[in-house]
Amino acid sequence: QRNQDWDQRFEPAILQDGHRVEVVANIGQTAEAASVIDSGAEGVGLLRTEFLFLDRDHAPDEEEQYNELRTMIESLQGLPMIVRTLDIGGDKPVSYLGLSEQDLSFLGLRGFRLSLARPDLATTQLRAIFRAAEHGPIRLMFPMIATPNDFLRAREMAEKVRREVGGQKVELGVMIEVPSAVTMAPELAELADFFSIGTNDLTQYALAVDRTHPLLARRADSLHPVVLRLIRDTVKAAHDKGKWVGVCGGLAADPLGALILTGLGIDELSMPPAIVPQVKALLRHEKLETLSALAEKALHQRDARAVRALRPSH
Ligand code: PEP
Ligand code: MG
Repeated sequence: QRNQDWDQRFEPAILQDGHRVEVVANIGQTAEAASVIDSGAEGVGLLRTEFLFLDRDHAPDEEEQYNELRTMIESLQGLPMIVRTLDIGGDKPVSYLGLSEQDLSFLGLRGFRLSLARPDLATTQLRAIFRAAEHGPIRLMFPMIATPNDFLRAREMAEKVRREVGGQKVELGVMIEVPSAVTMAPELAELADFFSIGTNDLTQYALAVDRTHPLLARRADSLHPVVLRLIRDTVKAAHDKGKWVGVCGGLAADPLGALILTGLGIDELSMPPAIVPQVKALLRHEKLETLSALAEKALHQRDARAVRALRPSH
């Protein structure tokens, strides 16, 4: 089966009834762009830009960031790449920014909040991104957006930099990974071009479980109906406004998760390149109707364990 999945990896994920799901890859290193091509992924759904900032003693300058991004988008040979702005903090600490433990906590200055507190860092990164976007189809998204005002600020910041560098417009997306963003998803969907759901953080914030806690992390199962209901609401809000929704958290890489997410109406699944052939193959065996019924059942379970026991009924 594995060999067959691998042989068909360049074929799209089209369900038995013709419904198509885009299957793309998460990466966090320049060299991984090559494995995206090789995996059959249809693009990059999440570039974690933190790799440029971690394990060093100073922030990278604009030139360095531009060169890395340009190398990546060029090696993707025309496939689209969603670049997420810096998501330092939480499980991704850096030493040289002078941030306190509280700043770095999961409820602290992480993600876009750091971009607001340190516009110098954000502006340098955005300049590099808009310059790289001249070399291939780049989309931009912002992590840890909690409210429509957060996104308005992000959009303003991006637009200002874009004008300064004379770059072209790119699609702007919101990461949906804070429960308040789900509540305000109808408003956010009016402002953004797309959503990408970060199920890792959405799960930890919805269940109030630190995703790195040695004892608790097990409970942070993204197949919990709490998370699935938040995803359902997010999809509805986006589709009502004609916007597409992806999932770039770990749930998209879970075989049952990928089926349920497709049943919930998710348009794009983003996962580590190595998983792409398997998820594509899995989807090709199913009908949307079957997966919608599976998702509907999952939404009504009481806990993640009960959801994990479900299978599509053919
Ligand atoms: C997520 O939170 O699900 C996500 C994709 O972002 P990260 O894991 O980088 O926080
Ligand atoms: Mg996240």
